[in-house]
Amino acid sequence: MRIGIIGAGQLGQMLGFAAQELGDTCTFVDPSSSPPAAVAGEVHQAAFDDPEALAALATHCDVVTYEFENVPVEALLAIVDKVPVYPPPDALRHAQDRLAEKRLFERLNIPVPAYRAVDSVAELEEAAADLGRPLIVKTRRLGYDGKGQAVLTGHGQAAALLGQLGPASLIAEQWVEFDYEVSAIGARNVAGDIVIYPLTDNEHADGILRRSIAPVEEPKLARLAEAYMRRLLEHLDYVGVLALELFVIDNELLANEFAPRVHNSGHWTIEGTAASQFTNHVLAITNRQLVTPEMRGYAGMLNLIGEIPDATRHLPHGQLHEYGKTPRPGRKLGHITVVAASAADRDRELAKICETVMGSTLDTGSAP
Ligand code: AMP
Repeated sequence: MRIGIIGAGQLGQMLGFAAQELGDTCTFVDPSSSPPAAVAGEVHQAAFDDPEALAALATHCDVVTYEFENVPVEALLAIVDKVPVYPPPDALRHAQDRLAEKRLFERLNIPVPAYRAVDSVAELEEAAADLGRPLIVKTRRLGYDGKGQAVLTGHGQAAALLGQLGPASLIAEQWVEFDYEVSAIGARNVAGDIVIYPLTDNEHADGILRRSIAPVEEPKLARLAEAYMRRLLEHLDYVGVLALELFVIDNELLANEFAPRVHNSGHWTIEGTAASQFTNHVLAITNRQLVTPEMRGYAGMLNLIGEIPDATRHLPHGQLHEYGKTPRPGRKLGHITVVAASAADRDRELAKICETVMGSTLDTGSAP
């Protein structure tokens, strides 16, 4: 099969490698001159929404997918009558607007933190009075990795905070004192078959994912996450991989957001399961049978952000993935995955990698 992929970053690269293993070929559209996915297929250098580049993908490919969320929905709608586009643009539309996303969760009986739509200082003050402080205020559109967010703590800050976030439409959310954060990753193919990966425990710093470990051994949470995932996949008539990010609080789940794509918190699935999220995404969008992602052990993943220390290339344990990107502060350059026979072994190996290689004090232990 010929697969068109909008975006040629590291997610595109890993999708491209999975596609190659399945005997498929990928063509990417990306504005960069030598993006990470160039090693996994041909790259057409053009804007993500360039009408000619997308029309060419539609003509030359059997299916088109995307690896990031900021592709304009209209650009996809312009080609849907020429080629199947998965995940469905309607899923992307919901994921691009935090308000539409929250309302969708509510319609599907998926619990969310209390929130209000906010467009003015008065509405923000009203939200703070209703929901209490601190309040996390986010732009409705185009936020990622914690960008486009601010926390309202005291009184008299509303005007300054709105000034900081700009004139965009906003959403104000109750601050959740979560115990930890998890993500559920699921895939659905054109025929409607579904597979769901074991729940992953994620730790962020400065809004960026630092480490993931799996599985979360909490049967109740796993059951809830699976139910929410199935509701979303079926309601959206979804095709491909979807990632759902949730807060764990008092052994319950609150949905934060979903991503209609393969996800950083699922990178461990490459070594950690029988079929990675990338493989199942390719299988799903080409309407082949999905592979049940049996665990191969206890898995953990550390992101390498800003630099890849040379010592990571000589680790006794752990599989290093380098994306081939130019180092820059805050940039995701690679990751390391560990798969071990027990949760304790995994946590020990991850902690060693953190301490000796990254000089970090990040807590690598599993959630209670
Ligand atoms: P988001 O861009 O919505 O994924 O938010 C980035 C990170 O901010 C999340 O992974 C959480 O760590 C934190 N966060 C987001 N929303 C809330 C909330 N309502 N309460 C507490 N922390 C939050």
